[in-house]
Parts: sequence; C-alpha cells; structure tokens
Amino acid sequence: METCIECGGKLFGRSDKKFCDSNCRNAYHNEKSRPIINQVRQINRSLVNNRSIIENLANEGVQKVSLKVLRTLGFEVNLFTARKIDESAEEIFFIYDQAFQIRGEDLVILMAEDKHFRATG
Ligand SMILES: [Zn+2]
Repeated sequence: METCIECGGKLFGRSDKKFCDSNCRNAYHNEKSRPIINQVRQINRSLVNNRSIIENLANEGVQKVSLKVLRTLGFEVNLFTARKIDESAEEIFFIYDQAFQIRGEDLVILMAEDKHFRATG
C-alpha cells in the first residue's frame, strides 16, 4: 500500500496517487517552495532598499557617492534590476526606475533629465 508523501497516510484508489487529498498536495508544494519564496522576498527587500537609497540621495541633490559610503547605508552594489550599455559604450545600471553608473570607487546617479534611456525596451 502506497502512502501519502505529505502525511504518511495510506492511499486508496489510483496507484499513481502521491497525496491523500488536495490539502496534503498543497501543504507539500508550499513547503517545497517556501525557501525559494523567502529568498525572493529577501532579494526584493534589498532591491527596494537599494532603490530608496538612490532616490533619497537624488532628492537631496547628491549625484556622486563613494561605494564605501553606500555600503555603510546598506546598499548592495551587486544587486540591480537591469544593466545596459548606452550609445557611448558606457555601462548603466538600473534599480527599477533609478539609473546610475559606477566610476572607479564612486557611484554616479543619473538624474531625471539624463534619463532619456530606459531599463527595458
Ligand atoms: Zn496526506
């Protein structure tokens, strides 16, 4: 007799059944996807945090910040949503709608008026 892979209960009926019912099936799949969902949430939180840091600096009129200072603010340099090479072969990073470049040890925020480019399309 086969048993349910979620609760271990005995299975009746079709021999290819893995679960006693949809509750056990859902519980099993939720459990399996939970670590992935947590990882996605964590990355999203970090991205939103990165975006807020850039937006706040831009709103204060700050355009150039050292990566060292950004790290102390909790900015994760390797986390962005898109990367693009512009017409003059410069690398532009995006965090959603915010755009910046890395020049040496500094991050240079591209202000709204410079944003003729888009992260997508
Ligand atoms: Zn079960």
